[in-house]
Amino acid sequence: ARTPLVAGNWKMNFDHLEATYFVQKLAWLLRDAHFDHKRCQVALLPAFTALRSVQVLVEADNLPISYGAQSVSVTSQGAFTGDVSADMLAQLGCRYVIVGHSERRKYHPEDDANIVDQVRAVLAAGMKPILCVGESYEERRQGIELEFAVSQVNDVTRDLSQEDMENLIVAYEPVWAIGTGMVATPETAQEAAQAIRAHIGRQFGKKSGEAVKILYGGSVTSKNASQMIQEHDVDGFLVGGASLDVQEFARIVRLAA
Ligand code: 13P
Repeated sequence: ARTPLVAGNWKMNFDHLEATYFVQKLAWLLRDAHFDHKRCQVALLPAFTALRSVQVLVEADNLPISYGAQSVSVTSQGAFTGDVSADMLAQLGCRYVIVGHSERRKYHPEDDANIVDQVRAVLAAGMKPILCVGESYEERRQGIELEFAVSQVNDVTRDLSQEDMENLIVAYEPVWAIGTGMVATPETAQEAAQAIRAHIGRQFGKKSGEAVKILYGGSVTSKNASQMIQEHDVDGFLVGGASLDVQEFARIVRLAA
């Protein structure tokens, strides 16, 4: 069975002081609820500037919380002003890096080639990429949403090995559901997750398909999470807005556990 993962994508929110407050409060809420971290993995994805503060807290108290970044450079070092390398993130104890979030695809020149290179850089540094895919409203209107999401996955997986697949996580995040309050129905999320899993199964064998973690993202809250997590192929959530409220985020974690 796949252990669920609930990951909070803070996007460009929280400076290091706010992040510090959040982590301490989350740790306290989870402990208070006798949270069993073997039943659900918890991850926070802060801005680069808060990573060190999160690391210090997590390591000092050995908290059952992982963390990672929202993007990464495709190069390992050198004259790339403003970029942060995968090794730098790994040095800070990051376990995850989001790759190909729709906001990055939209506001930055992140095309398929760049996304593949980011995934490779994350894997080479021993971390797990959380590859984001998902259709916009237009593809859904045309009825090609499943082909679209699967082809975005394939654009990356066709260049990977079976061994790489052990560390890849996919997040199905339909663009029309991100930050809109229009959450996908559990059936819609299941259908997409199933299609993505089947694709990976065809490409790398049934075992890889069964093992890969597939998250849902897009307007997840504690109101819709409990139904969604019942779906067979949905293994957890990538939470945006609701991950900024520590009580709400802790509720979602408890629902997934
Ligand atoms: P919201 O949960 O705010 O819709 O954001 C989802 C998201 O983009 C997570 O990566």
